[in-house]
Amino acid sequence: MKLQTLIMAGAALMATATTAFAQAPAPQREITQIKGDVYNFRNIGHNAVFMVTKAGIVLIDTIDAEAAKWLKAEIKKTFNVPVKYVAYSHDHPDHSSGGEVFTDTATIVGHQRTKEVIIAEKRPTAVPSVTFTDKMTIELGGKTVELLYVGRNHSDNTVVAHFPAEKIIFTVDWIPVQGLPFRDMNDTYFEEWIDGLKRVEQMDFDILAPGHGRLGNKNDVRAFRGYMEDLQMATLQAVRAGKSVEQAKAEITLEKYKEWGAYQAFRPFNIEFMYGHVKSHWRPSVVPPPPAPAAGAPKGN
Ligand SMILES: [Zn+2]
Repeated sequence: MKLQTLIMAGAALMATATTAFAQAPAPQREITQIKGDVYNFRNIGHNAVFMVTKAGIVLIDTIDAEAAKWLKAEIKKTFNVPVKYVAYSHDHPDHSSGGEVFTDTATIVGHQRTKEVIIAEKRPTAVPSVTFTDKMTIELGGKTVELLYVGRNHSDNTVVAHFPAEKIIFTVDWIPVQGLPFRDMNDTYFEEWIDGLKRVEQMDFDILAPGHGRLGNKNDVRAFRGYMEDLQMATLQAVRAGKSVEQAKAEITLEKYKEWGAYQAFRPFNIEFMYGHVKSHWRPSVVPPPPAPAAGAPKGN
């Protein structure tokens, strides 16, 4: 009996091991070609993007110091050219940390506001030495990267990196591919965000590389703007109907997006953000009466 139990346990263990082997998790870090000379570096759930030229590499985002050190070693092994430029997509530390790993060979580039926030918030990264406000073009080894500012959105300093030869854009945290914006959308400038999406829709690109998750395209930008506008309209209607924030969170389902990433996890937080936003940009028809004059106050006009 004991032996049989042991054998059974052994068989169960082997089955578990086989299952584990069959479903081996994806590596924590990997480099994959997006198209042409443009590559994605994934570090667990975060993406950075870089362009390889014979004169060196332009890297957008460093993620964190450990990820940056790994990437630096892999670049040396695979491409054997130095990283000549590092640019930041925006200041948030889960994307911009670790820039100092590349300062031995690279010029650090950022939006003027990115630099200001990196300094003010003491982000653990290298401060940009070259800044811009609207647009900057980096030319290296006969290839080009454009950095474009299209207004405030998920931060006040997000930029779009455009690789014109490959028709790729890389931009982080404000255009998820079939996914909801992060939790309560803090550091958000909603109306400018919508305007920025419209500007991106006008740009010449085929591939959207996001800061998290898989690649997308221009249809994903349009679809995401649809989500944002639907979220705003549904929440405005709830506010007009006198619903509380808890009622709005319970009743606004945005069913059309139920297959999107983080639909269950982030939707209530998105609604909570939007409820506050709509309330502060809304004026009902019924105007509350002015406060009664204090006793003894002069009468008349
Ligand atoms: Zn961010």
